[in-house]
Amino acid sequence: MSPYAKVGGLGDVSASLSAALKKLGHDVRVVVPRYGCIDIEKSGAAVTLNSMGVWMGNKEEWCMVYRAESSGKAPVYFIEHSVFFDRDGLYHDNNMSDYDDNPLRFAFFSRAALQLCKDINFKPDIVHGNDWQTALVSAYLKVWHWNDPLLGGAASLLTIHNAAYQGIYPKSNYDYIGLGWQNFTEPAFESYDKVNFLKGGIHFADMVTAVSPTFAKEICEPGGGFGLAPYLSAKGSKFKGILNGIDYEEWDPQIDIHLPAHYSADDLDGKKKCKRYLQKLFCLKNDPKVALIGTIGRFVDQKGFHLIRNIIERVLDDMHVQFVILGSGEKNLEWFFQDLPVRYSGSAGSYIGYHNERAHLIEAGCDFFLMPSLFEPCGLNQMYSLRYGTLPIVRATGGLEDTVENYDEAAGSGNGFKFWESSENALYYTIGWAVSTYYDRPAHIRKMMLDGMKRDFSWETSAEKYVKAYAAAIENKKEADSYTPYYSVESKKKKPASASNKKISNSGNEITPSV
Ligand code: ADP
Repeated sequence: MSPYAKVGGLGDVSASLSAALKKLGHDVRVVVPRYGCIDIEKSGAAVTLNSMGVWMGNKEEWCMVYRAESSGKAPVYFIEHSVFFDRDGLYHDNNMSDYDDNPLRFAFFSRAALQLCKDINFKPDIVHGNDWQTALVSAYLKVWHWNDPLLGGAASLLTIHNAAYQGIYPKSNYDYIGLGWQNFTEPAFESYDKVNFLKGGIHFADMVTAVSPTFAKEICEPGGGFGLAPYLSAKGSKFKGILNGIDYEEWDPQIDIHLPAHYSADDLDGKKKCKRYLQKLFCLKNDPKVALIGTIGRFVDQKGFHLIRNIIERVLDDMHVQFVILGSGEKNLEWFFQDLPVRYSGSAGSYIGYHNERAHLIEAGCDFFLMPSLFEPCGLNQMYSLRYGTLPIVRATGGLEDTVENYDEAAGSGNGFKFWESSENALYYTIGWAVSTYYDRPAHIRKMMLDGMKRDFSWETSAEKYVKAYAAAIENKKEADSYTPYYSVESKKKKPASASNKKISNSGNEITPSV
C-alpha cells in the first residue's frame, strides 16, 4: 500500500480506493504486513495491540499490531511478524526468487487480518481481499467464522489484479493453512495436486472482480485466465470487471510535488520545462523538438520489455527519437537497458531500480509512453500518461484497450496509438506511426494531448462501482446462507439460523465446511 510499501499497481489501488471509499462515508480499515521497508516511526504508527495470537494449523503464531492514521485516509494496521515479513523484499529476494515460505506468510497474514477484527472489536460488512496473497480471507470467513458474532455476517469480495500470479504451492503447506482437507478439492483449492490460493479464493468469495472490464472478459475466454477461465465463468454474475481509477492528489501535473514545473491543459509551458529537466537528468541531448519516448515498469514477460529490447536499437537508428527507461526485474533485461545509454549516448537514458520521483518526471517530461504488454489487467501508467499529456503507445489488451482510444488520422481524434499483434514489427511500426504524426501533424498531437488530459479517471467513479459490488456480495452471501449448510472446522456445530434446515452429508468424524 503506497506510500508504505509498493511494487506495482496494487500499492496505488489500496491507497486510493480506501481513501475514496472513506470519502463516500464508509468506515474502512486497511491491513498490511509490516514489511521490512516500512519504517514504523516515519509512518507515524503506534502500537495498537501488543500481542495477538493467530491459529495456524495446530499452532498459534504471535504478532504485534501497529496503527497509522493520516488525514483523509483510512486507518492502516500493520501486522508485525518479523520472521515472516522483516525482509528486503515483499514477495521475493533480490534475485527475483520467490520466498519458499510465501504460502505460510500469506496464509498467516490473511488469518491475522480476521483475528484483528476480533481483537479490536471491528465488525465488517465486507472483507475485501486482493490477489492470491489475501484470497484465503474469503475461505477463512466461510470455514472458520461463519457463526462468529463479529465476522459471521461479513461477506467477501476478492479482486484479481493479475491472474498470472495464483499462489500455487506444494500441498505440504496445506495443514498449516488449516482449511480442512475436505476443501482440497478440484473446484476449490486443489490444482494438479498442489494448493492454488487464488482458485480457492475464487470458489469461496461472495463476489469476484478483475481490474478492468476487458481483462475480466479475456480471462473468462476458453483457454484464458491462466487456467482459471472455467472457474471464473462459473461465477456468472458474481464476477465482473471494474476499472481502476487513479489518485489525482498524487498524479496531477498541476500540483505534483515531484516535478520541477507545473502545468495544465490550459497552459502547457511547464511540460516543456519538465522535458528539459528530464533530458538533463538522463544525460540526453537538450532538444525540445525531438520526440521523447518513455517507459516504466517491472521487467517481466508480461510487460513486453523483451519486445522493446528487440526493436529499440532499430528505432534509435531509424527515427529521430530519444528514449528513457525506468525499471527493474529480469537480470538480462536490466543489463541490456543499463548498457543502452553507453551505446546510444545522448539519445537513450535509463535507470535500473525503483524510483518514484523519476516515474513522475517521466510521465510529465515525455511526449509518448510505451506499454507493449502481452496482457494488462488494468495498467495505471497509461492513465497517468493521459493525465500528463503524454500519449500512450499500447498493445490493445485488458485495461489498455479500455482506456486508450486509438488515433484516427482522418478525424484527428483519439488519445493514443494502439497495436494488436504482440510482435516486434507491430511495435516498431506503431512507434513509427506515432513519431511521424508527432513531426507531420502536430495539431493532431496537441488535440489528442488535451483530450487525454480532460478524461476522468478519478477514483470516485470506480469507488462507487465497488460499493455496488460490495452490496452485491452481501446479497450473494445472504442468498448462499439461506440454502447452504455450514460446518466449522473449529466448532463442528451446524449453523443455527436459517441455514440449519438444509441437508448436510457428513460421514463419521469428517467435518465438511462448504459453501
Ligand atoms: P503492475 O501493477 O502490473 O506493475 P501498473 O501499471 O498497474 O502495473 O502499475 C505500476 C505502478 O508501479 C505505477 O504506479 C508505476 O509508475 C510504478 N512503477 C513500476 N515500476 C517502477 C519503477 N521502477 N520505479 C517507479 N515506479 C514504478
